Amino acid sequence: KEKGRNTYHFFTPDLDATAQAKRAIERDLRHAIKTFDEFHIVYQPIVDLETGQMKSAEALIRWHSAERGLVSPDQFIPLAERNHLILPIGEWVLETACREIKSWSEQSQTPFRVSINLSSRQFKEDNLPEVIKGVLDRTGFNPNQLSLEITETLMMENLDEALKMLHELKAMGVRLSIDDFGTGYSSLNYLKRFPLDTLKIDRMFVRDVTTNPEDAAVVAAILTMAHSMGLEVVGEGIETKDHNDFLFAKGCQLGQGYYFSRPLRIDEFNLFAERSEYE
Ligand code: C2E
Ligand code: CA
Ligand code: CA
Ligand code: CA
Repeated sequence: KEKGRNTYHFFTPDLDATAQAKRAIERDLRHAIKTFDEFHIVYQPIVDLETGQMKSAEALIRWHSAERGLVSPDQFIPLAERNHLILPIGEWVLETACREIKSWSEQSQTPFRVSINLSSRQFKEDNLPEVIKGVLDRTGFNPNQLSLEITETLMMENLDEALKMLHELKAMGVRLSIDDFGTGYSSLNYLKRFPLDTLKIDRMFVRDVTTNPEDAAVVAAILTMAHSMGLEVVGEGIETKDHNDFLFAKGCQLGQGYYFSRPLRIDEFNLFAERSEYE
């Protein structure tokens, strides 16, 4: 015990402060998910690169903490993944996004697709299909309007388990996207085995695509392979007209990024969607 206590002296004050800060965020997060009052979802349009028309949207969670102000998902999602809080949070996102997009689809009389991020923690829960089925039943949302985004590292971690889960989800009629493609280690060869619909090219490759020949070659190769597998491709992080034009010239149909729109609150999103329809 004595020795154990002494080891604390080896922690630098910095590390200690970080650990404390994390515990404090975790405490606030636990409190916040009792009501979910401090959370909302923003929707970022996914746009046809040829026509500029919106085709679907990605749901992204926002936490506006009374104590801390706006907390970025990059700060609290990894934390929530470590302590299981991601399970209630993930289910809340699914249910809220399906409800909001269903209501929007009904008003505008356009069946509309929404993409939702799944964390690896959710994906590893055996009851994920039941959770999703429950959400679809409660909201009356059409499964083929729901696209689930998963990362490649997640799928490579436990290949056989992942394949089984993906097929189970696919059998429910939902669509499957591979997110942040190019950042993990999966070879395109493995990709063939997954029942995927969409591949999202990570924004890291898009950023310098018009100036860096290596990035350009990677993006072109991803597009060629994805198309030969019949996958729909979304370019992420499109910030300029040059990004847009380059990707479109290489055969990418869809894009997402600040060039089209930042993520929008549902009321702003409605306005954007209406405008986009009449363009
Ligand atoms: P992601 O899934 O790759 O989401 C795209 C991120 O890129 C979003 O950041 C979005 O706001 C940002 N972005 C969009 N367009 C551009 C652009 O043109 N340039 C740049 N630099 N960034 C752009 P956000 O909303 O901060 O989310 C960060 C990450 O947090 C997401 O990355 C995702 O991994 C995670 N996340 C967000 N919402 C959820 C959620 O509801 N559930 C789970 N499990 N993870 C989420
Ligand atoms: Ca995503
Ligand atoms: Ca992404
Ligand atoms: Ca990401």
